[in-house]
Amino acid sequence: MKRKILAVLMVILGCCSTTSLSGIGQSNAAPAPTNFIVIFCDDLGYGDLGSFGNPTIRTPHLDRMATEGQRWTSFYAADSVCTPSRSALLTSRLPIRTGMYSDTRRVLFPDSKGGLPASEVTIAEILKRKGYATAAVGKWHLGYQPEYLPMKHGFDSYFGIPYSNDMDFVGQNVPADERRRRMMEPKVEYWNVPLMRGEQVVERPADQTTLTRRYTDEAIGFVKANRQRPFFLYLAHSMPHMPLFRSKEFAGRSQRGLYGDVIEELDANVGRLLDTLRQLQLDRKTMVVFTSDNGPWMLFNEQGGTAGLLRGAKGGTFEGGMREPTIFWQPGTIKPGVVTDQGSTLDLLPTIAKIVGESVPADRPLDGFDLTPVLRGSGKSPRQTMFYWRGSKLFAVRHGSFKAHFITKSEYGTDQPVEHNPPLLYNLDEDASEKYDIGAKHPEVIARLRQIADEHRASITPVENQLDKR
Ligand code: MG
Repeated sequence: MKRKILAVLMVILGCCSTTSLSGIGQSNAAPAPTNFIVIFCDDLGYGDLGSFGNPTIRTPHLDRMATEGQRWTSFYAADSVCTPSRSALLTSRLPIRTGMYSDTRRVLFPDSKGGLPASEVTIAEILKRKGYATAAVGKWHLGYQPEYLPMKHGFDSYFGIPYSNDMDFVGQNVPADERRRRMMEPKVEYWNVPLMRGEQVVERPADQTTLTRRYTDEAIGFVKANRQRPFFLYLAHSMPHMPLFRSKEFAGRSQRGLYGDVIEELDANVGRLLDTLRQLQLDRKTMVVFTSDNGPWMLFNEQGGTAGLLRGAKGGTFEGGMREPTIFWQPGTIKPGVVTDQGSTLDLLPTIAKIVGESVPADRPLDGFDLTPVLRGSGKSPRQTMFYWRGSKLFAVRHGSFKAHFITKSEYGTDQPVEHNPPLLYNLDEDASEKYDIGAKHPEVIARLRQIADEHRASITPVENQLDKR
């Protein structure tokens, strides 16, 4: 009743915006629901941001985000390549459980017939139950067939390219050295990548030089349109996956060369999005997570990123393949600081579900944990263990400070996998670069890690492989 009288008064006074009304009524209302934005880069290395130690790439917006929020130094993608990693972020399930893995074709290709099964439950589907507006913007890579596109997985809208930006290469008969030259000196017309809106192709080939800016424009438009209701935005940038593209405005700006230009454009666009949240006074109501799907693609020399002090790269199970530069941000809620506890993209779904008071699927094993105690500064991370799968094989396990490699293999070479018995053992707290095998001194640690690996393997039920279907 009081509110009604107040509303009438405000109409009389000529200040009847719904924002001021809801602001005034807040003391009696439930706290405003949290919005969520996940910014997911493609092939960004652990050492590619200023705040993660890069000496020449300038990332002032991400660095500010890291200062205002939490900078996580042991945060993992769930796999070392695109498709499996993305499926795990959205479902909190390891690819081996969902069929989104393969020993032959490691990701989905334009001719792939498989995709993320409809039976999987995504973050977007959980938030839909709570009335959230949901949008996917950017690279999808979880199935190109109509039944696997984002709007079949809980997203109200989609704008982006459905797979990697180096697929649909024009001229299959081009010799390998020329093909590589085109990767290193890219032009838009070398690839016939489609840009989609909803389930329609709206541009082909996609003008990749403006993708970072256009994805951000789309993201900002979505945030503005949904400023009055809770929203979830999954913003999966295509960059810095090879071939590298940036707009004219960023060409030649970075001391780090083309790769640096690309990262600096990503950084500026993260800044635009966070500025929008501040302008709309949504910054304190919106949790933003920034991370990447896997490590740097070092096959392409200086045009791939860097994993900094970490060993390895995209495609492999040393730390550089899966440990990602990660930032959590929500002023007033997330306690600023540096977090060295373990976390993973697998943890986003349970964390988000906890924040909104929604249950997670109980009829299947999940591989994630609720990270809210760490985000709020009230406790340690419940994640003690990370599993490093490559296709159908468990290559390595981290538990606490220690990591055992049971199998190793080069990221993309034709070499055969090497089984290690005893496994290689590293203390990641003391030796993040995985240089010094200390297995001989710690047989008891190896025994424990073997037991954890055996129990984990036993929890896996075989499912149909989606990535080998053509
Ligand atoms: Mg990737």
